[in-house]
Amino acid sequence: MTDFEVTRAQFHLPEGVIYLDGNSLGPLPRAATARVAACLSQEWGERLITGWNKAGWMAQPRALGDRIGRLIGASPGHTVVGDTLSIKVYQALAAALALRPERRVILSDRGNFPSDLYMAEGLIGALDRGHVLKTVAPEEVAEHIDDGVAALMLTEVDYRTGRIHDMKSLTAQAHAAGALAIWDLAHSAGAIPVDVSAARADFAVGCTYKYLNGGPGAPAFIYVAPDHADIAPPALSGWLGHEAPFAFDRDYRPGRGIDRMRVGTPPVLQMAALETALDIWDAVDMADVRARSIELTELFISLIDAHCPSVTLNSPRDSAMRGSQVALRHPEGYAVMQALIARGVIGDFRAPDNLRFGFTPLYTTDQDVRGAVTALADVLDNALWDAPRYKKRAAVT
Ligand SMILES: *Cc1c(COP(=O)(O)O)cnc(C)c1O
Repeated sequence: MTDFEVTRAQFHLPEGVIYLDGNSLGPLPRAATARVAACLSQEWGERLITGWNKAGWMAQPRALGDRIGRLIGASPGHTVVGDTLSIKVYQALAAALALRPERRVILSDRGNFPSDLYMAEGLIGALDRGHVLKTVAPEEVAEHIDDGVAALMLTEVDYRTGRIHDMKSLTAQAHAAGALAIWDLAHSAGAIPVDVSAARADFAVGCTYKYLNGGPGAPAFIYVAPDHADIAPPALSGWLGHEAPFAFDRDYRPGRGIDRMRVGTPPVLQMAALETALDIWDAVDMADVRARSIELTELFISLIDAHCPSVTLNSPRDSAMRGSQVALRHPEGYAVMQALIARGVIGDFRAPDNLRFGFTPLYTTDQDVRGAVTALADVLDNALWDAPRYKKRAAVT
């Protein structure tokens, strides 16, 4: 059994704050401060360029990838970290399209995170071979999988509503139609149990700064199924994805397996922070996380039903269909969230009118949930949100 009191004690959680936004940016692992400081002073400071070998910097992207791999059901050697999630979406999609050269359709859903769709459009433009991005309602995806589809590109857990797509069944349908399936696990990795091997996902990508708590700017990850690992052509053919980067050959030859999904120099300081987050995850069982996450979201929804009649639930009521976040709608959602944050309860706002709350068993308690609903009821009952200072939009919502 995972001991969530032990995991909670491993995070720095500011006094007086109820943090329900770990779905956007996880909190600081206590060990990260000393680890990053040591990386700066002992590794960079003392070892200088020899750190690439002596401190193992160059091997980190694969080592960290394998530790994330355990959380998403990937076998060792098929996951690597680097770059940002948007870049990894581009790489996975470009590889999938190259593996299905005779097909032209990328199928996604309208609720997908805009960056994934923007990257697809950018890739379509760069290829200039007549690909189309087709986006349909999330519940209609299955009906649109046909033999024109090259790649099914979906985010498993909807970033706004938390609705879960059935990865295994949609992937099976994609395969039956001859298409490949790319899964974005941004709101899945560390949030719900994932098994990319059992689901037979072709590609999976995700970020490490949300539920995985790797810190702002932490690198993304990419998984490529063993069947494709040695044949997927890398669209971003950077030197560190080369078979022999330090041969400095004029010709690009893709590296073996997942190595070809590396692009350039890895972010050493960010990886040092991420490593401490994964130290915490190493002792965690995802089945325990899921059970506890459901308890937390159910408690939240039942208290909202009882005490906040002016908001409506914009997440599935059935916990089996819901990830680890809950969205509530309110016409003045932005101002309501700002007033709530001013009271020490941090969630976030997603246009047009969603108040979004993430529940993260590693450090969220029942007491946090109760405190958040009490504060929200107060903000709504007394219209505390109705003040000019809460209506002025900041750059990041
Ligand atoms: C958070 C998120 C992103 C962010 O991409 P970055 O390149 O890391 O900024 C992309 N896609 C989805 C589905 C996300 O939830």
